[in-house]
Amino acid sequence: MPASSKKKTSKSSAKKTTKKAAPKKKTASAAAKTAKPAKTAKTAAKAAPKASGKPIRVDYLLEKLGEEHGDDQTLPPIADNLDLMLFLRLCQDMRLADAKKAFLALRTQFVDWNEVRISPVDEVREVLKGAPDTDALARFLQGFLMSLFLEQHHVGLEFVRDKTNAEIKAFFKKHPGFADSSLGLLLERVNDYPVVPLEAYAMTFLERVGLGTSEATALSRQKDLYEHVPKGQVLGLSLLIHEQARYTCPTAEEKLDCPDCPLKRGCPFPAKVTPRQRAAALKNVKKSK
Ligand code: SF4
Repeated sequence: MPASSKKKTSKSSAKKTTKKAAPKKKTASAAAKTAKPAKTAKTAAKAAPKASGKPIRVDYLLEKLGEEHGDDQTLPPIADNLDLMLFLRLCQDMRLADAKKAFLALRTQFVDWNEVRISPVDEVREVLKGAPDTDALARFLQGFLMSLFLEQHHVGLEFVRDKTNAEIKAFFKKHPGFADSSLGLLLERVNDYPVVPLEAYAMTFLERVGLGTSEATALSRQKDLYEHVPKGQVLGLSLLIHEQARYTCPTAEEKLDCPDCPLKRGCPFPAKVTPRQRAAALKNVKKSK
């Protein structure tokens, strides 16, 4: 049988099985409403906070950012560790909504990750709409899958369950290209790693909304945050925070979009910025244009 006809058969069977297998996921906001709250979250008041200088609560953060992203925030079906890492790799290059669409296309238009590995790069590139460089991303995905195949004789990442955190970190040091926060989310999934993993740029956002101060180390702030996250919501919260910190609340103050921010009613930061600071920031923007 020619390779092309083989592929058609396997793809159509994949479509049938994918429908059955894909579990229905809740949005982060919906899940936040139904999930059993963590011990510390139990004490949180129900009403939305006012921008009074008090820190924003995690449940409010999940609710408002979940609402903002609507259905796009629904996490795709992540069945195993390889799914998780490849979805997170897409999120590194794309908006959350685009990453979700690309992930679903990779999982439904190809039989499995092994077929992604052996397919022509053009076919992989085709489904990565939204990435700034689809060719580079397609080649990265195929290169990583190929190295897994050559090293493990299998395209999967379930072997990391038997590894320590140090061994998993060493493995990804040999296979660079994944964000530290992605590696942290894998550790949180497979081992004891009580942290909401965040990139440096997301820590600025966290400080603005009052969740931690710059005096504490980044790791201790991420551990504190973990204590307040409802069970099963770490991945969703980390994704939402990164999306918010990249596009609405970036580190550069002159690029803040507070008027359009879903957290503006609860965030203490705008009240802290004096009109003079705001005018100076706007002046800098005009100069840089
Ligand atoms: S954009 Fe403004 S209102 Fe929104 S989280 Fe950032 S500082 Fe707060």
